[in-house]
Amino acid sequence: MNRIVMTNAQGPTSPHRLTILGSTGSIGTNTVDVIRQLGGRDRFEVMALTGASNIDLLAQQARDLGVKLAVTSQEDKYAALKDALAGTGIAVASGQSGLDEAASMDADWVMAAIAGTPGLEPTLAAARRGANIALANKECLVSAGDVFLRAVAEGGGQLIPVDSEHSAIFQCLEPHNRKAIERIVLTASGGPFRTHSREQMAGVTADVARAHPNWSMGLKVSIGSASMFNKALEMIEAKYLFDLSPDQIEVIVHPQSIIHSMVAYTDGSVIAQLGCPDMRTAIAYALTYPARGDIEVERLDFARLARLDFEAPDEVRFPALRLARTALQRGGAQGAVLNAADEAAYHAFVDGQIGFLDMADIVETVMDRMNDGRTAQTIEDVLAADAQARTYARETILNKQKAA
Ligand code: NAD
Ligand code: MG
Repeated sequence: MNRIVMTNAQGPTSPHRLTILGSTGSIGTNTVDVIRQLGGRDRFEVMALTGASNIDLLAQQARDLGVKLAVTSQEDKYAALKDALAGTGIAVASGQSGLDEAASMDADWVMAAIAGTPGLEPTLAAARRGANIALANKECLVSAGDVFLRAVAEGGGQLIPVDSEHSAIFQCLEPHNRKAIERIVLTASGGPFRTHSREQMAGVTADVARAHPNWSMGLKVSIGSASMFNKALEMIEAKYLFDLSPDQIEVIVHPQSIIHSMVAYTDGSVIAQLGCPDMRTAIAYALTYPARGDIEVERLDFARLARLDFEAPDEVRFPALRLARTALQRGGAQGAVLNAADEAAYHAFVDGQIGFLDMADIVETVMDRMNDGRTAQTIEDVLAADAQARTYARETILNKQKAA
């Protein structure tokens, strides 16, 4: 089945009315820049913005875009946001109910760019009411793929990937040749530790791990690129978006991050999407689909580039890839388990409680402990698996700290 809802012959209208969930983050600020480049308030009516602690930026964006509603996810920041927007006529809300209100506003497009599992419920709410979703928040699919796709199908909106690899695959897909797809090839930069030994990785700090060679991204994605847990999440994301079996999902290390991913067909053809590593291209594609916008990002200069390199991924140094394959094969709630355990382990690493390599150990321990055939067919299943995985991850983290 074609999981992505394709448009009719005329295509959808431009996303005139848009809400950005997570406007103050890396994807969010790039989205605001793309909106400005594509014509700003003349072309887009931005209905609602949401952020967390960066109130100054959120208020600034709300004023510049003339939105109707600005939301901080943090209840204790409500007063500061209210003050910052006093006299503007912009409504202010906070907390989970504020996020739900933003998701429910009558915008025909929603950019889902909240980081991590907190993005799940508001994005689901937007999908259920039939909004078209530009999906950056991969956790929605990793954790709740079946629930989320059902919500999109029932709501009747479109789902367009923003993650650069999935945008690339989406751009390389020939809708009339879906059955002729042999496999997809997700490219991975290999991150800052591509050539490190496990011994070298054992002692790295979060500050070192966050320095990505090619892409500028939020902290979680940057750390996930160093551990390759980001690629692990993307393998599961691809399964749901493109309805693939585990053996149709290949990962190749491509240090320059110029090929963003590829689709291989049964006749031996491989179609690739290339570009400079800049998320604004994928964001613009989602916001203008099926047309293409005209935006200022660096253009590829092939002569200067001279070469593109590829390496087989090393699943011993980067166990995250092996764990993703295991989660894909086991199915059920293992995606939700991998995602929740990875988030818990990531926080513990960033807080200096565990080492870099401990993250994969923790995820594997929790996945094995929860390999009990549980399913993820309802949001309740997903939230229960998520909560249990976090509890087990905390136990495993404590045991590691005691042993250290
Ligand atoms: P970020 O950390 O830079 O920004 C996250 C946004 O979510 C901010 O607006 C923040 O205020 C908000 N937020 C944080 N915690 C929240 C909470 N508890 N409740 C509500 N809102 C909260 O993250 P990012 O790098 O922009 O990534 C956003 C999403 O896009 C992630 O799912 C990530 O995997 C995905 N993604 C990012 C990139 C990238 O280049 N940054 C690329 C592909 C996919
Ligand atoms: Mg990506």
